[in-house]
Amino acid sequence: MYRLDRIVLREVALPLKEPFVSGVSRVDVRRLLVVEAWCGGVCGYGESSPLSDPYYTEETTETAWHVLESFLIPAVLGRPWRSPADVAARLAPVRRHFMAKAGLEGAVWDLYARLQGLPLSRALGGTRDRIPSGIAVGITGDLAALGERVKQALDAGYARVKIKIKPGWDVEPVRYLRERFGDFPLMADANSTYTLQDAHRLKELDAYGLIMIEQPLAWDDLVEHARLQQLLETPICLDESIPSLAAARAALDLGSCRVINVKPGRVGGLLEAMAIHDLCRERGVPAWCGGMLESGIGRAHLVALASLPGFTLPGDISPSGRYWERDIVEPPFTLLPGGEIAVPSGPGIGVAVDREALERCTVRARAFAP
Ligand code: MG
Repeated sequence: MYRLDRIVLREVALPLKEPFVSGVSRVDVRRLLVVEAWCGGVCGYGESSPLSDPYYTEETTETAWHVLESFLIPAVLGRPWRSPADVAARLAPVRRHFMAKAGLEGAVWDLYARLQGLPLSRALGGTRDRIPSGIAVGITGDLAALGERVKQALDAGYARVKIKIKPGWDVEPVRYLRERFGDFPLMADANSTYTLQDAHRLKELDAYGLIMIEQPLAWDDLVEHARLQQLLETPICLDESIPSLAAARAALDLGSCRVINVKPGRVGGLLEAMAIHDLCRERGVPAWCGGMLESGIGRAHLVALASLPGFTLPGDISPSGRYWERDIVEPPFTLLPGGEIAVPSGPGIGVAVDREALERCTVRARAFAP
C-alpha cells in the first residue's frame, strides 16, 4: 500500500519560441500546471495542460487549478492505494475536468513506475524504444511563411506534418504545399471550425491525398461527422469529440471517423487513454498521440504512451527544441535521424526534472499535506 504524503501544485509560465496559432486560439506564453506527488521521499511528476482560454476544451489553467486544489487533491491525499487505477477511481466522481484529473493521475503514474523501478513506458505496456515524431504547424496566414515552416520541418526529418486549417485557410495552403513539396505525409487539423454546409469545401481536399482531416465539425458532434465521413475519401480523425472511451466507441460504431487522436489530457488521464488505445487496436483503427504544447514533463508522459503498439501513426510529439529555448527536463527530447524520438529507459518518466529551471518558471505554488 502506498500513500501520498505530500502534493505540490505549481503553475509554470513558459514562453514559446514562437506563438502557436490554431483556428480557435493563439498561445504566446504557455501556462501549465505541474503536479508533484510524493510518497516516502520519492516524487512523481505530472502535468495538467489546458490552454489559458476555454476555446479548445471548456477547461482553463484557472479551472484546473481550482478543481485540483479544492476537489481532486483532497480526494487522494493520505489515502491508501496500490495502483494508479485506485487513485483514478477516487478522482472519477468529479465530472469531466479531464485535464485537471490527468495532471494528478499522471504524477501518480510517474511515482508508481519509480516505486516499481520501471520506465513509465513499460509500466503502461509500451513496446517501442523509439517513436516517430510529427510536427504541427500553426496558421501563418501567409503561404510563403507556411512554406518556410514546412521546409524546415521536412529538412529536420519529421515523420509527418500537420497544418492547422480554418475556413479561408484550407484548400490554398494544402495545394501550395503539394505543388511545392510533392508527396509527403501531410494532414490538416480544423479544430471544429467548419459545419456540414462546408462539406463541398472539405471535399475539395480529397484531391490532395491528406493522410486525414482532423476534427472538421463541432467539438461535441459525432452524427454529422458520420455524414461527412460518408462524403469524403479522406479519413476523418477525431480529437475534441472524443473525451472518453464511451465517446470513442460511439464514434467508431457510428462511422464518425477512421482515425483517433488520443490525448491523455483530453480524456482524463493515461488509463482512459490506454483504454481507447486498446479499443482502436481491437477494431484495427489507426490511432496516434496528440499533444497540448507540453513541457518536457508532459512530453515524457506522451512519449511513454506513444510507445504502445496500437499507436500506429506518427503523433504530434515534437522535440523540446521545437517549443522552448530551454526545457525543464534533462536531457531534453531531441529528434533522432529518421524523425524519431527515443523513449527514455530510466525509472518513471525517465528524464530528470531540472528543479532550478522549474523554480524559475513557477509563478505560483501550493503544497498540500494530509
Ligand atoms: Mg487537434
